[in-house]
Amino acid sequence: GIGVIYGAKLLGTPLRSRVPGIEFGTAMLAHCAETGKKVFLFGAKPGVAEQAAKNLCEKLPGLQIAGTHDGYFKEDAPVVEAIRESGADCVFVCLGAPKQELWMARNRQKINAVMIGVGGLLDVFAGDIPRAPESWQRLGLEWLYRLIREPKRFRRMLRLPKYLWAVMLKRIRGT
Ligand code: UDP
Repeated sequence: GIGVIYGAKLLGTPLRSRVPGIEFGTAMLAHCAETGKKVFLFGAKPGVAEQAAKNLCEKLPGLQIAGTHDGYFKEDAPVVEAIRESGADCVFVCLGAPKQELWMARNRQKINAVMIGVGGLLDVFAGDIPRAPESWQRLGLEWLYRLIREPKRFRRMLRLPKYLWAVMLKRIRGT
């Protein structure tokens, strides 16, 4: 995200560009389709992962969807079991941050697959949420577009100044 770009710049280790989840995820899916790797789609509201799977299979011939599961579950164990049984090579974990990162950290020893945390990606693939126009993306304003569409994101965005402050302190202290 854009916060990481600013943070890296402040610390004198600039990064070449953002790697938006949608671009990384799309490239990963194309790679899986080409190499015959099976993908499991996990997260979002009930029905969304299935719709995303349908749309993706139409777009990417050869894509193998090992299974799907919604992101509103009570316990980790049944989801872990479903992923294990599916024989997936790659799991798209779409629970939003930091829930998805915590989920992956808790369960990574039990799942023998590459897991990537890609937030609201399944909503985009299912066609529920459009991506920001290209001009907004180029200006680094994708976050603003999403904020206007979903004002409730405001609270999580308050973390960005906190994060940048932590980066500034690190820079000042040189630690
Ligand atoms: N979500 C979920 N389970 C939860 C909370 C959220 O599956 O308990 C889903 C939600 O339906 C949405 C995604 O996680 O599809 C979060 O999207 P958001 O855009 O907030 O994530 P970001 O990409 O910003 O991390």
